[in-house]
Amino acid sequence: MSASTETVVAPPGISTITASPMPAHRHAWEQGLLDHPEVLRQIAGQIDGPFHVMYPDQVVENIRGFQRVFTRAGVQGSVYYGKKANKADCVVRACAEAGCGVDVASVDELNDATRGGIPGTDLMVTGPAKSDRLLELATRARALIAVDDLDELTRLSKFPEPSRVLLRVLPPGSTSRFGLTEQELDLALTEIDRNIVHLHGFSFHLSGYEAAPRAALAHALIERCRKARVLDHPISTISIGGGFGVDYVCGDDWETFRKGVNPRWFHGDRAPGAGSYYPYHCPVPGPAMLAAILGSDDLADTLRETGIRLAIEPGRALLDHAGSTVFGIQGVKTRYAHGVPYDILTANGTSLSLSEQWFNSEYLPDPVLWPQRPGNLTPTCVGGSSCLEDDMLSWRRIPLPRPATTDDLLIYPNTAGYQMDSNESSFHGLPIPPKVVLRSSPDRRQFNWRLDTALDAF
Ligand SMILES: *Cc1c(COP(=O)(O)O)cnc(C)c1O
Repeated sequence: MSASTETVVAPPGISTITASPMPAHRHAWEQGLLDHPEVLRQIAGQIDGPFHVMYPDQVVENIRGFQRVFTRAGVQGSVYYGKKANKADCVVRACAEAGCGVDVASVDELNDATRGGIPGTDLMVTGPAKSDRLLELATRARALIAVDDLDELTRLSKFPEPSRVLLRVLPPGSTSRFGLTEQELDLALTEIDRNIVHLHGFSFHLSGYEAAPRAALAHALIERCRKARVLDHPISTISIGGGFGVDYVCGDDWETFRKGVNPRWFHGDRAPGAGSYYPYHCPVPGPAMLAAILGSDDLADTLRETGIRLAIEPGRALLDHAGSTVFGIQGVKTRYAHGVPYDILTANGTSLSLSEQWFNSEYLPDPVLWPQRPGNLTPTCVGGSSCLEDDMLSWRRIPLPRPATTDDLLIYPNTAGYQMDSNESSFHGLPIPPKVVLRSSPDRRQFNWRLDTALDAF
C-alpha cells in the first residue's frame, strides 16, 4: 500500500480474523455436566491434567438405535462395534450389555473385548494379513473372521479347529489395498478347504459416508452369496462395514463455515487444505443411514427372502455423544493478526488427544469455555503444552464468549469417536489422559464417576 494514493485501509475487524461459530449439538447428559459445577470441579481437582469423560449409557442408546432399525425392517441384523474408534473398556461393556458384537483387528483388541464380556461368537476379526496368533485366537473363540488375503485361508486350514470366515471383497473400481479381487474370490470359492474353513459370506468396508454405494454393493454381495450357496457353502451373513455418519453440528453453521473459510480465520494464516474436513454436518446419520440403505432397491426384502443376516461395523456412530475431552488452561497470551488482537491458550495436554489435528485437518466442533458466563467475544486459538509449533488443538480462532483464564476448563465435545485416544502417547513424558466413566440418575440431576479400568469389569 503506497501512502501517496491516500487510500486508508481500516484494520479488519474481529469478524475478519475469527472463524464462524460451530457449536456442537448437545445431549442432556452433556448439558447436565456443564450445569453441575461440583462434578467437573471435583474431577478436575483429583486428576492433575487433561481427562476424557465417557458416558457409556449413550453407547447403549446408540446401539439400540441401530437394532431398532433392523427390527422395524424385519431384517436379521447384527451390530459389531468397530473397536479401533475408542479404547475405553466401558464401551466394550456397553456393547456386552446391549447384545452388540465387537469388530477387532489385533490380539489386544480381541482380548480386551473378551475380557469385557463379549462372547467369542459375537466377535468379528478384520484387518489385513492377520498374524497367526490372531487367527488362532479368533478360531478358538469361534469368531467370524473377515479374510483379506488368500494366504489367510491357507493358514486357517492348518488349525485343528474349524473357522468361520467371510471373504472381504475389493469394491469394483476401488484402489483400496484391502479386499480380494474377482479372481481371488473365484479361487477362494473352489479352493477353500471346506472341511475346516467354513465360508459364511462376504464383507466390505467403504470409505466415505454415503448410503447408496453401500446399498449397491450389498446387493452385489447377496448375488455372490447365491452363487456360493450353489457350491454348498454354509452362507449366512454379509457385512457392509462401518462409515455411518455422525451429525456434530447443525447444517446452517456448517454451510456458513464452508462458504466463509479462509486462511485469515487461522493462527498463522494456516488453514488446512481445502476439502480436507470431515463432514461435521451429516443430514442422514447413523441409524437413519442404515434405514436408507435397507430401503434402497428393496434391500430389506432381498435379505429376508434369502435369509441372509446383515452385519454392520459402526465405530464412530456408536460413540456419538458418548464422550468429551476436558483440558485445563495453563497460559493465555494475546497476539495480533492483521492488526486485530486474539488470544492463544496453552492447554494442559496436547493435540494427540484430538486426533483430527494429525491428518492435515482440524476438529471443528467448538470447545466450550467453562464455567460458562457472558463477556466480550474473544477470538481464541488453542495450543498444546509440548514444544512443537505444530501441536495446536485449534488453529482456527474460535469465537469464545469471553477471554479465557487459567482457572477455566476447555471442553471439546463429542470426542469419543477416534478423536480422544487413537493417537495418544506419553510424548514429552506427559501422562496419557485418564478416562472418567460418568453415570447419571435418569433426571440427570445426580452424577457419579470413576476411572475406566478393566479391573472393575466384574
Ligand atoms: C474402521 C473400520 C470400521 C469402523 O468404521 P467407522 O467409520 O468408524 O464406522 C468398520 N470396519 C472396518 C473393517 C474398519 O476398518
